[in-house]
Amino acid sequence: MLKNTGFCDRYIIMKNWQKEYSKSIRNIDEIPSHLVDKDISSLKRVSEKYPFFSNRYYLNLVSNHPELKPVIIPDERELEDNTGLEDPLGEEIDSPVPGIVHRYPDRVLFLTHNICPIHCRYCTRKRILGKNVNFGKNTWDRGIKYIESHKEIFDVLISGGDPLLLNNSEILYLLEKLKNIEHVGLVRIGTRVPAAFPERINSELINTLKQFIPLYMNIHFVHPLEITEEVKTACLRLSGAGIILGAQIVLLKGINDNVETLKILLRELLKIGVKPYALFHPDNTRGTAHFRLSIDKGISIVHKLRGFISGMAVPNYMVDLYRGGGKVEICYNYIKSKDGDTYEIENYEGKHFEYR
Ligand code: SF4
Repeated sequence: MLKNTGFCDRYIIMKNWQKEYSKSIRNIDEIPSHLVDKDISSLKRVSEKYPFFSNRYYLNLVSNHPELKPVIIPDERELEDNTGLEDPLGEEIDSPVPGIVHRYPDRVLFLTHNICPIHCRYCTRKRILGKNVNFGKNTWDRGIKYIESHKEIFDVLISGGDPLLLNNSEILYLLEKLKNIEHVGLVRIGTRVPAAFPERINSELINTLKQFIPLYMNIHFVHPLEITEEVKTACLRLSGAGIILGAQIVLLKGINDNVETLKILLRELLKIGVKPYALFHPDNTRGTAHFRLSIDKGISIVHKLRGFISGMAVPNYMVDLYRGGGKVEICYNYIKSKDGDTYEIENYEGKHFEYR
């Protein structure tokens, strides 16, 4: 059992991240007892279907801040949800070769493996987390060939699992191959690592990544409590190396579905050099119904942010449609009426103005 030592003590960024990662917790019995307020056997049943996993840094953060508990601690409601879909985004339908999802005209998702710094309970790819999914160099090479032979592909998003948990030589291999494809103009890394396992952002990784700038990185955050000194250091090291950082946030019932929490998160992100890029409505993934909120509530939250905090801090609110429909931005409608070329437009305070 991990001792609850009041882990507010500074966590030291370790150079040997593999050693630290190898100490990650998979066993429900090792979760601090104050985070398990229900019958432990029911959590074990949940974890058999949807494995529990956390590195020690994040588990200690949750141990200190139980507000973050729903992010990683199994919940028996996961087994009760039959409404969601195993593959809500239809990634398998849009996969021309293993590991590649090609849905939009000029961009592909490149899945590298299914290993993560933590298992987020609301994950869209819950179906493959902790399962033995066959990614590897042969699969990557097939994906690279696919991209080489499709000249319309401009933008490659490397994701997973988490690509920053590959070792440096693997990251180097992938980035070299992708950056050398002439028609690929944009390579992005989608990652949870800087927010959930900051000790991975060491000098060797920075030296590997900075060879490939311009390089974009979208970091997944869900709560301001995730922005610790270690995370701040990790993000500043990445941006200091020239990597362009954005944040993608999942809007989650019971974690961040209120204006105040999001306001703090969005502002704190800007302070550490991370531009809030997307706020995702939770996907309709099986086992995650307890995280879902209505789109109306999401619109109302964003409406109460826009205009009230810096425009730089407000992300696009996106819904990813079922079965490959793709991402759509959902907005409050500020246009209240139109008469010829005259519009009646509402401002952020709810006042109406005529605009020709
Ligand atoms: S890090 Fe990303 S892919 Fe991994 S469990 Fe969390 S949401 Fe899913």
